[in-house]
Amino acid sequence: MSRPPVYLDNHSTTRPDPRVVEAMLPYFHEIYGNAASISHRFGWDAAEAVEEARARVAESIGADPKEIVFTSGATESNNLAIKGALPALKRRGDHLVTAASEHKSVLDVMKRLSREGWNVSFVPCDETGLVSAEAVEQALTPSTVLVSVMTANNEVGTLNPIGEIGRLCHDRKIVFHTDATQAVGKVDLDVQADGVDLLSLSGHKIHGPKGVGALYVRRRDPQVRLQPQIDGGGHERGLRSGTLPVPLIVGLGKAVELMFLEKPDEPNRIKALRDRLEAGIVGRVADVRLNGHPTRRLGGNLNLSFAFVDGESLMTAIRDVAVSSGAACTSVDPEPSHVLRAMGRDDESARASLRFGVGRFNTEDEIDYAIEVVAEAVARLRKHSAAWSSTSAL
Ligand SMILES: *Cc1c(COP(=O)(O)O)cnc(C)c1O
Repeated sequence: MSRPPVYLDNHSTTRPDPRVVEAMLPYFHEIYGNAASISHRFGWDAAEAVEEARARVAESIGADPKEIVFTSGATESNNLAIKGALPALKRRGDHLVTAASEHKSVLDVMKRLSREGWNVSFVPCDETGLVSAEAVEQALTPSTVLVSVMTANNEVGTLNPIGEIGRLCHDRKIVFHTDATQAVGKVDLDVQADGVDLLSLSGHKIHGPKGVGALYVRRRDPQVRLQPQIDGGGHERGLRSGTLPVPLIVGLGKAVELMFLEKPDEPNRIKALRDRLEAGIVGRVADVRLNGHPTRRLGGNLNLSFAFVDGESLMTAIRDVAVSSGAACTSVDPEPSHVLRAMGRDDESARASLRFGVGRFNTEDEIDYAIEVVAEAVARLRKHSAAWSSTSAL
């Protein structure tokens, strides 16, 4: 019996909600004006839609619409936030703090800055992936000018105490950036209460379109000064030039709106499905270990290491259940996940891991099917594993 494949890779990207696509369509077909055209109706209508989306994004994080800059996604937002903030901070110090478990779009920016002469501390996370305020505090020096710690980890889902970290930074007049791409609409975010100065988010992780994101830039108490990374026509208050992709921005606004419309039920439903998946797999498969925090993590996240099984082989074996493995297959020789390594897992355990991401469109039936497929595949692979046979013979 063939059935449609099951999508459980919602940390990589999400299916655009049909209501998002619906909201975008008129901005391809009819309202195609340039939002920067201030002399005619076509431009005004486009600009109005952009401002409505801006207001929605701002509201979702407790910001003012003037503090939102649209970008091409969270990668660009992270680059703009960190690289953009430094010129104004340079004379105050040369020390930056981030965590070893960050997304590559923060880590690789920091690595470049470190090669360029900035002094960067990569704070370790604990064995659950948590970056504690104490760990951040210990890394601070009198010359620290910027801290970047993500809100929710994209591999293991662990939620960091960004309110505590934000307050630490604010007390010391250090700029605080958080990559909230995985957290928007799933955990309560308030840039005022959390002392956040810069916050990145992305459309396609919240059932919106790919190629659009936003950066929150604090304008008061204190104002964060950014140097644009893309110069040109001076769009987005000069912070990000380029004609605005109106349909994508409308889609992002709709996606944010839906994240809140679906609340408070959706997070509970997703967490219940995740718990079912976790209980189902752990109940049927021996020697499984949870990667991540048992409670302080995203409701849809489940990252497991299966002893004596290669994650890549397991992923191939469960072909019609789409997940990610703890080995980045961007190179010929798959590198074990830097996040799992930062959590203290050895290469083998990191390679033996799968990341499941439950999302809005998953059903109980799909979860049960995934449990079945994973349990069978692990059993099959272990039967052929010499290491497994030798331990189970004990
Ligand atoms: C997906 C992701 C990004 C990158 O977002 P894009 O919009 O694809 O550039 C950055 N940070 C985190 C935590 C992510 O999950």
